[in-house]
Amino acid sequence: MAQQERIRVAIVGAGIVGLTLAVALNAFDSERKIIVDLYESAPELSEIGAGINIWPRTWEILKRSTVVVLQLVSQGL
Ligand SMILES: Cc1cc2nc3c(=O)[nH]c(=O)nc-3n(C[C@H](O)[C@H](O)[C@H](O)COP(=O)(O)OP(=O)(O)OC[C@H]3O[C@@H](n4cnc5c(N)ncnc54)[C@H](O)[C@@H]3O)c2cc1C
Repeated sequence: MAQQERIRVAIVGAGIVGLTLAVALNAFDSERKIIVDLYESAPELSEIGAGINIWPRTWEILKRSTVVVLQLVSQGL
């Protein structure tokens, strides 16, 4: 596919929103028309020493996203 037929999307921030958006764009882009560039300013992942509560609806979305990520990884994407 020619480069000009594709859409390039820049996502700034690889937090839960940026990562979820990247996964969602990949999952619904069966024709591979979207190129995603994900930018993160933090030099490394680190713990902040806080617990996290996840609401049931959020947990459902995270579980579905995880399934999509595993499918993409298994397809070598
Ligand atoms: C101590 C603490 C406890 C929390 N506990 C909970 C909880 O229990 N339950 C809950 O649901 N929520 C909790 N939250 C809130 C939750 O963390 C946020 O709602 C959620 O992380 C927001 O996700 P986000 O992707 O929008 O932003 P973030 O997670 O903040 O991600 C944004 C990312 O963008 C990067 N970034 C910023 N500017 C740039 C730039 N110019 N270029 C490149 N990268 C950039 C940052 O480094 C960061 O990694 C908590 C927050 C804190 C601070």
